Amino acid sequence: MFCSKCGNEIDNEALICPKCGCATANMTSQKSVASADTSGETSTLANCALTFAVIGPTIGLILGIIGTVKYKNEAYKKKSITAIILSPIMLVVYYVILFLVTQY
Ligand SMILES: [Zn+2]
Repeated sequence: MFCSKCGNEIDNEALICPKCGCATANMTSQKSVASADTSGETSTLANCALTFAVIGPTIGLILGIIGTVKYKNEAYKKKSITAIILSPIMLVVYYVILFLVTQY
């Protein structure tokens, strides 16, 4: 195969290009296998945290914090952090809506 960065012909099994040191497709596929290994974790908690961030911000915030502490998987951790950020915003939005509604 050929290096995607410098175009140098490299060994099919090579993880990095010997010429430029760039990671090859082998390296990237190995990485995805490794990240799949740590995902004996399920996305359930992260998805719940995100859902509750919208429909019940207080619960979403708590689930988000639990997810951030518990998850080792980066993608799920990011989702949990998003829930933590989103929850207070949604809470403010709901208070504003409530305020506007009670004005009339
Ligand atoms: Zn290269």
